[in-house]
Amino acid sequence: MLNRRNFIKTIVGTSVAVPGILNANDNLGKDIKFDEIADVIIIGSGVSAHICAAYLVKNKIDVLMIEKMDRIGGNSALSQQDFAVLNSDLQIKAGIKDSEELFLNDLNKAGAGYNHLEHSLRIIRNSNEAYEFAKSCGVKYADKLKFLGGHSVARSVETIGGGGACISTLNEFFIKHNGKIKNETKCDEIIQDESGKIIGVSVRENYRFNRNLANDDRENLSGDKKHYKARLAVVFATGGFSRDIEFRSIVNPRLRLAKSPSSLGQTAGALKQMLKVGAIPTQLALSRFSFGIPTEDLIYGIMVDCNAKRFLNEDGDRQGLSNKILAHMEKINTTIYPIIIFDSTGFANSHDPNRMQSFITAGKMKKFDSLSDLANNFKLNENDLSKTMQDYETGISNNKDEFKKDLSKIKNSSMSKAPFYAMTAAPGLSYTPGGVYADINMRVLNISNYEPIKGLYAIGEATGGVHGQSRLTSCSIPDCMTSGIACAKDILKGV
Ligand SMILES: Cc1cc2nc3c(=O)[nH]c(=O)nc-3n(C[C@H](O)[C@H](O)[C@H](O)COP(=O)(O)OP(=O)(O)OC[C@H]3O[C@@H](n4cnc5c(N)ncnc54)[C@H](O)[C@@H]3O)c2cc1C
Repeated sequence: MLNRRNFIKTIVGTSVAVPGILNANDNLGKDIKFDEIADVIIIGSGVSAHICAAYLVKNKIDVLMIEKMDRIGGNSALSQQDFAVLNSDLQIKAGIKDSEELFLNDLNKAGAGYNHLEHSLRIIRNSNEAYEFAKSCGVKYADKLKFLGGHSVARSVETIGGGGACISTLNEFFIKHNGKIKNETKCDEIIQDESGKIIGVSVRENYRFNRNLANDDRENLSGDKKHYKARLAVVFATGGFSRDIEFRSIVNPRLRLAKSPSSLGQTAGALKQMLKVGAIPTQLALSRFSFGIPTEDLIYGIMVDCNAKRFLNEDGDRQGLSNKILAHMEKINTTIYPIIIFDSTGFANSHDPNRMQSFITAGKMKKFDSLSDLANNFKLNENDLSKTMQDYETGISNNKDEFKKDLSKIKNSSMSKAPFYAMTAAPGLSYTPGGVYADINMRVLNISNYEPIKGLYAIGEATGGVHGQSRLTSCSIPDCMTSGIACAKDILKGV
């Protein structure tokens, strides 16, 4: 396949010195001994990495995937993998009328116009190809469509077994087609030649992520340093940085207090490596929160801070509410998350009481027979809480809410009828929309001339500007899959 393959085969694994290769960004020195060689090196092992790898190995490209954690899959393995697809077999079977225009409007609405059009179109136009390719690799989807919030029609397919099943299926496919993967191998640095072309990476094998460090990227020195050469390309499929409290607080101070349901490895180290070789950072201050409970139900209850006081109109979307919660916590100088409280009428009014019940079963939400039990459980002053609840009910009687909640929408929910239900309202930073900017072939562009940095690609959540202000539900998976395939196709052009 490659002209130099025979030559390269002879040097794989033999730590041959390759003269004349400079590390343009830092201190690797002039002569580098490469310990591994592959056509393509993919950093990360989530869905974007795996789909790109699957496409490449199917086309007989020699791929080495590396993952810094002891387990593969990153956030992809934690996700439900709801997957928005335009004109899928399921949409056609159900006779659903969807279009590029409708999908684009939905993406733009969520992204508040910050979305880069070319990437929105890449997702929309190639989502069905990616879905069919994933199926051809063995990934299974339920025989029903989901009509998810923010979408104007039912267009999301459901991955059977969620992200865990998807990753293990794609991984099996990858290994079966001679793909190679190394866990606990962390990419530390990108290696360039004199012309600026990316020719490999410096890594640490036997690296052990340490969750107890304040910043693993800066403080963790574990592992054995090695150098890997990529004949064709290095692909960063390194995900977001939602777990990197230090970095996210710099790009947006409001994110300091957010919780994160993400995998522990979601740090900014890989992003910084790409910036060091000239990548363009984009939209790093943006955030996307998950909330743990459908936010449309919050209107039937109240939210109180650690002083048992209300501080907002509970009627809002998860982005708006999350930002208000974090701003309020900053204002009153606390790290304690507020509490959402429903009485029995408000709980019964929720749009899906069975789902609410499942939060209780899962231990996320608790049921209390008395206000006093609730106050004790959350360490709230009972008298203050009782007053807040009475004030809220007085407001309902007078049809006037202190925080201008539209009381005509609360369907006669009250705040005095036991049992009470309550849970912590912790905005969870589950996705970081910012990252490096790539063109539609997923080539990382250079900040000095906006030309592609030769040999360097970024895919999935590692890229920025694709979704804008807030990513539409179920649209990361089509982004990861279509960017992974676009990247693979572009690499194949050079073979
Ligand atoms: C709980 C949860 C549920 C979700 N549900 C959905 C959903 O239903 N639908 C949807 O569209 N989106 C969903 N998302 C978002 C979506 O899952 C992610 O955006 C997507 O999986 C990201 O995939 P990725 O391949 O870009 O990165 P990841 O899956 O995060 O993989 C990146 C990998 O790179 C590794 N890595 C990072 N740096 C290095 C380094 N220096 N060296 C080696 N390895 C490195 C990481 O350890 C990680 O394993 C959800 C997210 C969460 C947290």
